Amino acid sequence: MILSEIRSALNQLELIPSKGLGQNFLHDQNIARWFTQQLSIEQGDYVVEIGPGLGAISEFLLQSEAKITLIERDRRLANFLETRFAGKDVTIICEDATRFDTRQLFGKGRVKVIGNLPYSVSTPLLEKFTNALSPACMLVLGLQRELADRLAAQPRTKEYGAMSVCLQRAWNIKIIKRLPSSVYYPAPKVESAIVRLTPKTQSELIPCEIEFFEQLVRRGFSERRKQLRKLIDSSSFSWKDAAERIGFSETARAEELSVEQWIALVNLYRPPPDIQAQNASELFDVVDENDQVLSSEPRGTVHVNNLRHRAVHILIFNQAGELFLQKRTIWKDKNPGKWDSSTAGHVDAGESYLEAAVREIREELGVEIAQETLKPVLKLPSSPEIGFEFIQIYRTVYEGPFTFASAEVETGAFFSLSQIRQWLRAMPDDFTPVFKICGEKALG
Ligand code: SAM
Repeated sequence: MILSEIRSALNQLELIPSKGLGQNFLHDQNIARWFTQQLSIEQGDYVVEIGPGLGAISEFLLQSEAKITLIERDRRLANFLETRFAGKDVTIICEDATRFDTRQLFGKGRVKVIGNLPYSVSTPLLEKFTNALSPACMLVLGLQRELADRLAAQPRTKEYGAMSVCLQRAWNIKIIKRLPSSVYYPAPKVESAIVRLTPKTQSELIPCEIEFFEQLVRRGFSERRKQLRKLIDSSSFSWKDAAERIGFSETARAEELSVEQWIALVNLYRPPPDIQAQNASELFDVVDENDQVLSSEPRGTVHVNNLRHRAVHILIFNQAGELFLQKRTIWKDKNPGKWDSSTAGHVDAGESYLEAAVREIREELGVEIAQETLKPVLKLPSSPEIGFEFIQIYRTVYEGPFTFASAEVETGAFFSLSQIRQWLRAMPDDFTPVFKICGEKALG
């Protein structure tokens, strides 16, 4: 949209741009087109635009092959967009984007997020669309320049802070353009920048306990000028050794540690579990083709020799009939980062299916559930497709909340069954192979 079109649209709507809603409208066509190109849209992409305003960016998005959803808080602008894009394949939601439920985006395709964000809510919007319950695989955002500088900041700069470290743990962040305020109408007082965020790949991510990482980083930056050793408790290890091992000065302040050094520090406080050692110590009952116990063998022997053994999958529903799915952490040896049943696990030697189910719920989700509330749904016979396991599936009703075992579960949420069915059809590789089978059989 060019400036005269913006002016006339605002006149027609009798809309005086609101500072509180960050209503500064982009009137440079070349930048709007360029902005959109940065999403590298391909077929199968699902693009969400936050704060489309009068549609300066949306009009270019609509020339692409992606499915488009626009979330605009101002009812007058949402109505304007309905008229402007009538007949086009676009979903317009009139809602405060900070309240948007990102769960609904799972299963829609490769989700990409774009927007010239309203400044007052940029930070909560960033948090919402970059947390584990957002499937976004790319964000291209217009932000206030200072905020952009903070997101992409490097250690030992005044911009580098808790937000830089927490976001850079999981995202690659790049400022791709700086914009003068003159490209907007009305021109804001501050300059802007366009930032691209892409998630780190599994091989780039360094495992650590995320919640604790964020707590420690925030504590470290709570008084920037203070030495870290005076801010965070190191009674459980020697600070001097830690500094030497991780490679920072004993008197370092928070801003001197790189993201990798922060992760190393967190892993000193909460060492990551030795999954291999844990697995090596596990014993399973080996069973025959009728699920009768033959012997007990170590986990490794069972898996290497494809011996029949036992497992449970538990489907936890809430009162609304939604099913809780968990996302496995990247630490898991099998299917890291995949979505799975509410909880699942092997039956240990000497344990019954029911006992294993209760234990898995306790260990992975931090909840004590009585055996009698678990109802058998079906039992899958052992087969090569499901790793030679007999799988007993149970269901139960529980509303949460859950306390995730941080080494096992990255996140989790309740989803409607219709969404899960559609998600399974559209993006089966998001799920563990067993859930693909359990899910299809148990959900119908
Ligand atoms: N994308 C348009 C452009 O580039 O010309 C408008 C960008 S303007 C900086 C921000 C837009 O976000 C406005 O249309 C404003 O009404 C909208 N907005 C403000 N707060 C919002 C919120 N919480 N949720 C969704 N939209 C919001």
